[in-house]
Amino acid sequence: MKLYNSLSHRKETFVPHEPGKVKMYTCGPTVYHFAHIGNLRSYIMEDVLEKYFRYAGYDVTRVMNITDVGHLSSDADTGEDKMLKGARREHKTVLEIAQFYTDAFFDDCAKLNIKTPDVVQPATGCIDEFIRVISKLMEDGYAYLAGGNVYFDTSKLPRYYVFQDFNEDDLAVGVREDVEADENKRNKADFVLWFTKSKFEDQALKWDSPWGVGYPGWHIECSCISMKYLGEYLDIHCGGIDNAFPHHTNEIAQSEAYLGHKWCSYWFHVHHLNTNSGKMSKSSGEFLTVSLLEQKGYDPLVYRLFCLQSHYRKSLVFSYENLDNAAKAYKKLIDRIAALNPAGETAAEDEAGMATLRDKFAAALDNDLNTSLAVTVLYDVLKAPVSDAAKLTLIGDFDTVLGLELLAKAEAARRARATAAAAADGAEYTITAPADAPAEEAARIHALLLERYEARKAKNWAESDRIRDALAAEGITLKDAKNGVAWSR
Ligand SMILES: [Zn+2]
Repeated sequence: MKLYNSLSHRKETFVPHEPGKVKMYTCGPTVYHFAHIGNLRSYIMEDVLEKYFRYAGYDVTRVMNITDVGHLSSDADTGEDKMLKGARREHKTVLEIAQFYTDAFFDDCAKLNIKTPDVVQPATGCIDEFIRVISKLMEDGYAYLAGGNVYFDTSKLPRYYVFQDFNEDDLAVGVREDVEADENKRNKADFVLWFTKSKFEDQALKWDSPWGVGYPGWHIECSCISMKYLGEYLDIHCGGIDNAFPHHTNEIAQSEAYLGHKWCSYWFHVHHLNTNSGKMSKSSGEFLTVSLLEQKGYDPLVYRLFCLQSHYRKSLVFSYENLDNAAKAYKKLIDRIAALNPAGETAAEDEAGMATLRDKFAAALDNDLNTSLAVTVLYDVLKAPVSDAAKLTLIGDFDTVLGLELLAKAEAARRARATAAAAADGAEYTITAPADAPAEEAARIHALLLERYEARKAKNWAESDRIRDALAAEGITLKDAKNGVAWSR
């Protein structure tokens, strides 16, 4: 598999440190607000990457932090603590805010079919780790105490700006209103590892440390949490492109200073989601969330498809018009899958055709995760000269990576059609359930029996037998009458 590596600025063949295993780290959310769909674009693309590693046979361990302390409103260590700001706004404690927005984040992820990482670690649960790593950085001369805070000394590294060659003077410290120059820093790029001199007397979360009571900086948490669960060699680190500097740059600086060797081999950065008026942010324009899209009648998976239709290294422009196009494409795709015959089995003569399609799908994703090309392979599958059963098998396999719930949605569409058709026929056909049948089971079996009725009307005896046999396998017997059917256990 070839992936673009932000460190080398080119596509490279992905080779994990340990053959067959992928150690993957993702910067998690700062849980002071709902995630906007621009942030979620990164998590969708990272989810596809993880699922493709698994599809390709790797044993993946993925770790994510939850930033519940220490992230200031400017990424450059200044401004107000985001968590504290959220708590003040909503008259809650910082921990209540953290829990509420952590849950909201994972609710959004579930709606978008984003798998929860194997390990999810809130930063406040790892304070001892942070102190241990910062202490070693102090011992080794990579960190210094000034004005009560502990800073990382970026001048101790042969090369600090690993992703781009910035000019130190171009870092516009003090230019923007919310960014203040910090007199304690020896170099402009130095960053805080541990704060004790908080400007905010009421900083809610504080811990004892060798440097005084305080709290950790934002960057140190990702390095420590990654090393804690994934060891000294990380294969791939993911995040939004806006995290490359300063956050990821600082992660690399402190991790490699601590370890004394290269830390992470590949950096996967997802580019921005823009609106027509520019970069999406919480401060300007409509605040776009998954819930808002749902309120407007969109299936969250339409947004997932919308993201997959574009490459992760290109900026993507969000508009409702673009989302409507994705919604149409999604519906059309599901309808075409619903029209396939779900009965039957793949045959020997399907094999060659299936292998070609699998190769095509893998080739698309092997080329720097070209998801839009991988999505078009679904249309190739629908057109291919293989049996319907083979098509459904392939679509199911590919969807373990794409995560569009294609088979389930197609099945639901088929049922809805059968139910609607039967309803249109009037009430001459009655389905009788046992009086003590639980409502949910009765509804499910009712839908299946309507489908069987439709199949019989269409003289599709194979399908009608398939449904009868499937019910018999559950221990359900059918008693047909002239104008209906009764079922029992
Ligand atoms: Zn991070």
